[in-house]
Amino acid sequence: MKKEILFYSTNKSCPPVPFSVALLQGQAPDYGLYMPEKIKKISGEEILSFKNKSYQQIAFEVIKNFIPDVIPDDKLFSMIKEAYNFTIPIEHITENFYIIRLDRGPTASFKDFAARLMARFMEYFTSMNDKHLIVLVATSGDTGSAIANAFLHMKNIDVVILFPKDEVTEKQRKQMTTLDYNIHPIAIKGKFDDCQAIIKKAFNDQNFKNLNLTSANSINIGRLIPQSVYYFYAYSRIDSKKINFSVPSGNFGNLMGGVLAKKTGLPVNKFIVAVNKNDEFPGFLKTGRYSPVVPSKKCSSNAMNVGHPSNLARLMDLYGGWFLDVRDEYGNVIKKGVFKKYPDIKKMRKDFISFSINDTEVDNVIKKYYEQYNIIIEPHGAVAVASAEKSNIKEQPIICLETADPAKFSEKIEEILHIKPEFPKSMEKLDTKKEKFEIIPNRYEKFKEFIKSIFT
Ligand SMILES: *Cc1c(COP(=O)(O)O)cnc(C)c1O
Repeated sequence: MKKEILFYSTNKSCPPVPFSVALLQGQAPDYGLYMPEKIKKISGEEILSFKNKSYQQIAFEVIKNFIPDVIPDDKLFSMIKEAYNFTIPIEHITENFYIIRLDRGPTASFKDFAARLMARFMEYFTSMNDKHLIVLVATSGDTGSAIANAFLHMKNIDVVILFPKDEVTEKQRKQMTTLDYNIHPIAIKGKFDDCQAIIKKAFNDQNFKNLNLTSANSINIGRLIPQSVYYFYAYSRIDSKKINFSVPSGNFGNLMGGVLAKKTGLPVNKFIVAVNKNDEFPGFLKTGRYSPVVPSKKCSSNAMNVGHPSNLARLMDLYGGWFLDVRDEYGNVIKKGVFKKYPDIKKMRKDFISFSINDTEVDNVIKKYYEQYNIIIEPHGAVAVASAEKSNIKEQPIICLETADPAKFSEKIEEILHIKPEFPKSMEKLDTKKEKFEIIPNRYEKFKEFIKSIFT
């Protein structure tokens, strides 16, 4: 008997599908996001046994719990071993304060965790039926490079990356534009939200039906599930019954990984939802009313410049709500972030606290951690650390997620600390490589012409 768990759309107007379909589709046909119909518990005993297991072993058990009987055990384990071939340091700062570094993958951001496993999932399912796939991804900086790197040279898969021309750092851009082969980067003269809007439109464009488009954004359930694992790992390495996590958040995919972990049984007291000046979520928790930040605000933590996080649809859904964008008959969004059913906000306030951190606070905390603890953090991690400090939680440990290597933001670090962070090996050669990318205006028709010119 197959025990496969199906995945439903948060918009509830299309039938549930198996994992492989949800993965290869990305977004559901009704514009919803896929969620598992059933979230199996992992027992307390098993969670305790993680103390003696490697990251790869923990990943295997956690992922198998979400998608039992989908991929043969030996195959799944070898994918995991290949994907997670880097270190995951946990730094102890003060008595109850930790930083987990999720920045040691090949593109030096936490996006590698999701991208590297998702690429292997997709290759597995496409090679089974010899399908060609085009992965479309919008990035505010780090997703693009992680996806590009994870999918480089994969057979049967091309990757198209859209990034906001003036909102990524030079290093981030070069990580996407120096690869070539099956990787096609496009700079859009607009903001991250514009890139995301173009991609969402492409998925529902009848003209592209024969191209097998799929999404690698955090709307893809294949990215979310791997992001659950490091929460279990962190818990297993720290001696405490309950813990708190401070999560630097943009599209809330990282946070959703943690929330899924809690749903399966991880004893999390609170998630500290750390955002920059794009403060729609702390505003919602406080007032109960949701208003997206339009246009999104530009902050030094540029991968978090998101004014209307797509994963909120999932988060609200898990708390009994029904949250969506209202669309016209052509699929164009006419109103962002509307409740068809209101979530259990009392419960949300129990599980989450949320802070908005400005760029000056970011600079100050980077300085403080260098001077007091001799530790270099970068703007995204700094948003998490500053939020954790504001939370005033003292009862249990807080683990802050550091999501990028400071060297990715070397200009910023030099400006504040007057030192040059060391480059990870993977980034050393970037400046000598040749860049190749297209620049197009912020217009859907222009994007469409470009796609047609490469793939038809
Ligand atoms: C993407 C990203 C984030 C935000 O993660 P979400 O899953 O979008 O909330 C935070 N920090 C860094 C460095 C990132 O690349």
